[in-house]
Amino acid sequence: MLTAMSRPIPRRFLFGTLAAAPLAGSQFTRAAEQYVHARKVLLWESTRREFREALESGALKALIVPVGSTEQHNEHLAMIHDTASVTLVAQQAALSLYPQAMVATPVSVGISPHWMDRKGTLSLRRETFLAVVFDICESLTTHGVKNILVLNGHGGNARPLAEAMPDFRQKLGINVRFNSYWDAYTPEIIKKHMETNKAPAHAAEFETSFAMAAFPERIHWEGVDYAQAKPRLNIKDPGSARDDELFHREAKLAATWKGEAMIKIAVEWVAVRLRQMIAES
Ligand SMILES: [Zn+2]
Repeated sequence: MLTAMSRPIPRRFLFGTLAAAPLAGSQFTRAAEQYVHARKVLLWESTRREFREALESGALKALIVPVGSTEQHNEHLAMIHDTASVTLVAQQAALSLYPQAMVATPVSVGISPHWMDRKGTLSLRRETFLAVVFDICESLTTHGVKNILVLNGHGGNARPLAEAMPDFRQKLGINVRFNSYWDAYTPEIIKKHMETNKAPAHAAEFETSFAMAAFPERIHWEGVDYAQAKPRLNIKDPGSARDDELFHREAKLAATWKGEAMIKIAVEWVAVRLRQMIAES
């Protein structure tokens, strides 16, 4: 046993499938050729050495800053949905570009004053939220990042961020862009996959399908009785109360295949967007 272990290990066992892959000049094509642990594209799971070396080698070219929310998602879906969904899209897109892109720590509370009459919602003021996103972008800029895609997963954040981008670009002096991940969805794509012809909507067919495909453990239909809960919801605006009930019904149309298809489309779209940004810089 000891003798066997002290023998030099043949190179092919040390490198596994890598041995068959071209090694010279391969750092930009490795993602297609080998397994990459999902951790490797997450800034907050990396060490300072890993991040520094990725930047200094020139391999890492862009960061995604996911922004979401912690807010009510009707009776059945976890409040972290928007943050979890956008982070998943960001991570998958970054993996497809590995090692050119990484994902910064998500901003997990957004601008949600319109849901404050539903218990559990957390909301930041517009200026607080924009200041947090800006400070994260500024931190990355300080470290030498030249391309940042602020990627959004919550409707209430979209307009303030779009309006703030020229100011961000001017102050940071780098290529910083903004998109919501559902910018990937054309009317044709939505029509093809959503029976309600709606995406993103709120905690309805689309978001519930996304969760079924990506993290079914965040869906909790057990114990849900909308009719019984309705009188206790105290939703002030009658239109909003009608939508709430409608979204609850529409969520029942969710299906795993719909979520899988829509996630794939979003991931590919974000990857293309990042490639464009890298090419621009
Ligand atoms: Zn949502």
